[in-house]
Amino acid sequence: MIAVQGAFDVLKSTQIVIEQALRKLGYGDDMIDLLKEPLRMMTVRIPVRMDNGGTKVFTGFRAQHNDAVGPTKGGVRFHPDVNADEVKALSIWMSLKCGIADLPYGGGKGGIICDPRGMSFPELERLSRGYVRAISQLVGPTKDIPAPDVMTNSQIMAWMLDEYSRIREFDSPGFITGKPLVLGGSRGRETATARGVAVMIHEALRTRGIPLHDARIIIQGFGNAGSFLAKFMHEAGASVIGISDVHGALYNEDGLDIEHLLDRRDSFGAVTNLYSGSISNEELLERPCDVLVPAAIQNQLTADNAPRVQAGIVVEAANGPTTLEATRILTERDVLIIPDVLASSGGVIVSYFEWVQNNQGYYWSESEVEHKLQDMMIRGFRQVYELHQSRAVDMRLAAYMVGVRRLAEAVRYRGWV
Ligand code: NAD
Repeated sequence: MIAVQGAFDVLKSTQIVIEQALRKLGYGDDMIDLLKEPLRMMTVRIPVRMDNGGTKVFTGFRAQHNDAVGPTKGGVRFHPDVNADEVKALSIWMSLKCGIADLPYGGGKGGIICDPRGMSFPELERLSRGYVRAISQLVGPTKDIPAPDVMTNSQIMAWMLDEYSRIREFDSPGFITGKPLVLGGSRGRETATARGVAVMIHEALRTRGIPLHDARIIIQGFGNAGSFLAKFMHEAGASVIGISDVHGALYNEDGLDIEHLLDRRDSFGAVTNLYSGSISNEELLERPCDVLVPAAIQNQLTADNAPRVQAGIVVEAANGPTTLEATRILTERDVLIIPDVLASSGGVIVSYFEWVQNNQGYYWSESEVEHKLQDMMIRGFRQVYELHQSRAVDMRLAAYMVGVRRLAEAVRYRGWV
């Protein structure tokens, strides 16, 4: 489970970089004005019958950043701290991820203010179905396609799919992604984000001339993204020397026993509490390593600790782990940053594959999914890295420029601006 923090800052800093990217691409105030906010933002109230017989009314959101390129796409998070500004920022990031990967989508995002850890299965089902009823006019396989996000999973996607299909009176698997395999999910979806991050680590190491077998990797966060990534990097022969969770961190410069840690972690990605001798998350981020992967929460690398980070490469699996000031400091120190909108796009890429398979009614093997994912991630990396070099801009600005340029072009062709 991840905490959601600093939502206002996240939206503001996203808007700052979007503006810089559009200006570098030669666009003016009108385009910036359009793309710095979602086209549509819906707030819904969802009455849910609770197990005690009473009714509780929940608040939910759905943001659609821009649909000039195609339908909007993005996850729905269930979290007590989710709010409108955060959902807006996340929808913009989804546009950027889709732009970098060249997916025929714009960005979308949804959220419900709730704490699923304190709710029963039947209550969660009624809430999920109520949300779909509330937003059903706005979403659909050719309009806006939801997916899982923080504290939502394939079971919740299944309830949402079922509710949507009932409303529309036909089966509509392309309405939502991240579904169970038997309802039209894609092979490789669960591990997609970690697979994509692993591809980015390979590319970054290659760029810096470090052989994979010599690479020492630290991963903050041992949930869905962090734990699968630790597994993949360990299996590939790299040395995972640090991991962490909400309770603390484990570090061993000779490498950790990743298989053992994977065996013992709980379903919320916690394991360090089982061990004595753990260090703090703050300390872990400053330990020597070749690759540092923030894979937990926002705002972890800041102006305060960036001067002490010893990694040569930072790969952002988490959304928004590095502040703009820390980006500047790390870039000046020649740390290669692979920004979140590039590094963590594996999930939306395989969600796109799921939607394509649903539309075709023809399903791919896991290795087919992995190869296609790898190709798209590498293509994205090369575009961003080349622009970073040719325009002498930092990697985050380069990623935003690649992410937004196709969208701005589509807006122009449509004559909106
Ligand atoms: P998760 O809930 O499965 O795991 C989160 C991990 O972070 C857990 O190990 C938790 O203990 C740890 N954590 C929580 N608070 C912490 C803190 N204060 N300090 C250190 N560790 C803390 O989440 P996830 O799905 O692995 O997502 C992790 C990050 O990756 C998030 O920023 C998410 O937005 C991003 N991301 C995930 C996916 C995905 O497909 N899972 C896709 C794109 C981006």
